[in-house]
Amino acid sequence: MSSDRAAKIGIIGAGSVGATIAYAAMIRGVARQISFFDIAHAKVTAEVLDLNHGMLYVPPGTVEGSDDIEVLRGADVLVMTAGAKQSPGQTRMDLAQANANICAKILPRAVEVAPDALLLMVTNPVDVVTQVAIALTGLPWQRVFGSGTVLDSSRFRFLVARHCGVAVQNVHAYIAGEHGDSEIPLWSSATIGAIPLSQWSVKGHGRLTAAEKDAIVHNVKDAANQVIAGKGATNYAIGLSVTNILEALLHDERRVLPLSGLLEGYRGLDDVCLSLPRIVGRKGIEAPLPIPMTVDEEAGLHESAKRIREVVRGLGY
Ligand code: NAD
Repeated sequence: MSSDRAAKIGIIGAGSVGATIAYAAMIRGVARQISFFDIAHAKVTAEVLDLNHGMLYVPPGTVEGSDDIEVLRGADVLVMTAGAKQSPGQTRMDLAQANANICAKILPRAVEVAPDALLLMVTNPVDVVTQVAIALTGLPWQRVFGSGTVLDSSRFRFLVARHCGVAVQNVHAYIAGEHGDSEIPLWSSATIGAIPLSQWSVKGHGRLTAAEKDAIVHNVKDAANQVIAGKGATNYAIGLSVTNILEALLHDERRVLPLSGLLEGYRGLDDVCLSLPRIVGRKGIEAPLPIPMTVDEEAGLHESAKRIREVVRGLGY
């Protein structure tokens, strides 16, 4: 496997999410260079200064930023975090029009200066803006994808792990579909240490009743609201999730991650972006894995697809 530790990451948007991605990526030494583009000159300058003041304590690298898009030139991966975020009471879908407009302003110019870059969308509603980004840039779907339900799946695994008293790394379970209200927990394929979750009954480590499973799903779906209610934005877990995706991409790890990407003939679904586990490496994403699903899980996926497609069509894409 090839590794690209000399890579350049271009982060569009130096807000809470963009800055925290850079902070996590810096600590892990994911790339040699991190470059921010943001229209807010004072903000981007201050974030770059603050990050650079910690350079002594992390693997060697450089961090720079500008309100001139030229700063992204030659990036190997562009991470899109610019745009409006949810206010308390808003859904991610409420951001669709505003953030599609921002994508239309920035993305064509960004891919002009970084024509070989992979494009990782984080801005919400992430499935919708990923589909908009594919249309705006004309790049192949393998190179334009969204962080999708990587964060939701890590919230899901954390809650199951905590309930059963096991390490989160030993829980394998995915949230699929929309990164949002219609997302689907894939309980039927979930395992702990190779034991199907449906059969998990280990002394001192509990079982999951139907009510407890419902509570976990409710918690996953409500997670962003809970964080936003208390501190106005989510940043740490998305920062770590995106850093994990960047490592999979730039170090060609072939990791299985539930990224949002365009479907072509998957279980009867076409021409819609949503999340399913896929193999991720230096060339971007592959087609979704044929993960087993119950009839209800598959029906949920179709519902999620319908919802995303309606919003994308409403935007005129
Ligand atoms: P923020 O308000 O802190 O930062 C947004 C940044 O975008 C600001 O610095 C702003 O100056 C910049 N910006 C706005 N318009 C721009 C333009 N035209 N060109 C360049 N920069 C521009 O918001 P945040 O908390 O960092 O959230 C950013 C986005 O990430 C939101 O859409 C939020 O919903 C999303 N998000 C996604 C996930 C996920 O799992 N996909 C998780 C958390 C947040």
